[in-house]
Amino acid sequence: MTHPDVRRVVIVGAGHGGANVAALLRQHGYDGTITLVGDETVWPYQRPPLSKDYLKGAMSDDDLLIKPKDFYAEQRIDIRFGDGVQVVDTSARTVTLGGGEVIGYDALVIATGAAARQLPVDGADLEGVHYLRNHDDALRLGNATVPGARLVIVGGGYVGLEVAASARHLGAAAVVLEREDRALARVAGADLAGFLAGYHAERGTRICTSADVVRLDGDEAGKVTAVVLADGTRHECDAVLVGVGAIARTEIAEAAGIACDGGVLVDEQGLTSVAGVYAVGDVTRRPLDHFPGRHRLESIPSAVEQAKQVVGHILGEAARPHEVPWFWSDQYDLKIKIAGLVGFADRAVLRGDPASGKFAVFHLSGDAVVAVETVNSAPEFMVAKKLIASSAHVDAAQLADPSVSLRDLVS
Ligand code: FAD
Repeated sequence: MTHPDVRRVVIVGAGHGGANVAALLRQHGYDGTITLVGDETVWPYQRPPLSKDYLKGAMSDDDLLIKPKDFYAEQRIDIRFGDGVQVVDTSARTVTLGGGEVIGYDALVIATGAAARQLPVDGADLEGVHYLRNHDDALRLGNATVPGARLVIVGGGYVGLEVAASARHLGAAAVVLEREDRALARVAGADLAGFLAGYHAERGTRICTSADVVRLDGDEAGKVTAVVLADGTRHECDAVLVGVGAIARTEIAEAAGIACDGGVLVDEQGLTSVAGVYAVGDVTRRPLDHFPGRHRLESIPSAVEQAKQVVGHILGEAARPHEVPWFWSDQYDLKIKIAGLVGFADRAVLRGDPASGKFAVFHLSGDAVVAVETVNSAPEFMVAKKLIASSAHVDAAQLADPSVSLRDLVS
C-alpha cells in the first residue's frame, strides 16, 4: 500500500540506484508520478562493464543499458536527462534544474553517485590523462587504448587493475603505479592482492608499489608523455588512467542542509536527516548489520539493496533485513567476489591453492567470519555469505581444509 501522502516521487541521479528506485516503485504497485532526473545525456547504463567488456569492445551501448529505452515510457516514468538538479529546497519540497524547471515532490531520492578523485599534481590536466567514471570517459579511454599504446595507470584499486587487464587484451602495454606498499591496500587482504600482482605480472603488467606520483610531463602540444615519481623514475607513456578513488557527490544535499559526512548519512531505510528525503548508492554512508558505524560502499548490490529499502519505506512495507555487502571484479579469466568488510578482520585463513587459480580467503574477527574473498569459487562464496550473515563461529583449521565441506560449517 502506497503511503497516502506520497503522490510525487522525484529521483535525482539516473544511475544504478536511481533507475532501480524508479523501476521498483512501479514493480511494487506505486501509481503516483515518478520523475527521474539525470545530468548525463545517455540512457541509464551499467557502470561495471566500463572497465571490462565495454572497454574491450565486447559490449554495445544497448547492452550497457539498465533497462531498454522503451521501459521508461511504458512504466510512466518521466525522464529529464542532460540537465542536473542544481537546488533542492526541502521546505518547499521542490528541486530546480539547471534550465530553471522547478519540480515538486512528496518524496525525494538523492542518487547522485560519486565523482572520480582528481590527481593533485602538475600536469594532471594534460591531454591524454583519463578518468573512468562514466560512459564518455570509457569512450575516450577506449580510443587511447590501441595496440602498442603505452598506458600508465595511477592507482592499483579494482578499477585500475580491471583496466590493466582490458588494456592487455587490447594489445596495449600497461604499468600500474600504486602509492601504497601493495595493490588494493584499502579494499582487499594481502593474500588476494599478492595473488593478483603475480597474475598481472605473468600477463605483462607490472604493478609498481610505493610509487608516489609527483608530476606528469607533456610535449609542446600539451599531450602527456611521462609520469614522474618522487624518486625521479619516469614512466614514458601515450596515455594515463587515473584511478585513485571516488568522492561522494553530496553538493546538492549539503547545500540543502541534509546531514553529510563524507557521504549523505542515511538510516537502514535510506532516510536522510530531512523528512521525505532519501538517498541511495555511492553517495551515501549507510549502516550495515555486523559492522558498526556507517559505511560508504561503491557497489551495485548495495545500491540495489538501498533502492529496495527506500521503495519499501515509501510504500509502507515492513523493513527488510540487511544483506551482506558484496561486490565483484573480473580480471582476465578471474571471477573475483568479495563479501563482508575485510577491515573488520584480525586474521585471514586461506582455503585452496592460489596456484590453481581457484581459492578463497576467509577473514575472521575472533572465530567469526566477517569477510571473504573468492577467486573462481562461486559455491564457496555463497556459503561464506551465509557464514557472515549468521555471525557463525568457525574452526579456522576446518575452514582451511578443503576436504571439510563448507556446508557442514553453516549452522
Ligand atoms: P551512479 O551509477 O554513479 O549514478 C549517479 C548518477 O547521478 C550519474 O549519472 C551522475 O551523473 C548523476 N548525477 C550526479 N549529480 C546529479 C545532479 N545534481 N542532477 C542529476 N544527476 C546527477 N560495482 C560492482 O559492484 N562491481 C563492479 O565490478 C564494479 N565495477 C565498476 C567499474 C567502474 C569503472 C565504475 C566507475 C564503477 C564500478 N562499480 C562496480 C561501482 C558501481 O558502478 C556503483 O557502485 C554504482 O554505479 C552506484 O550507483 P549510483 O546510482 O549510486 O551512482
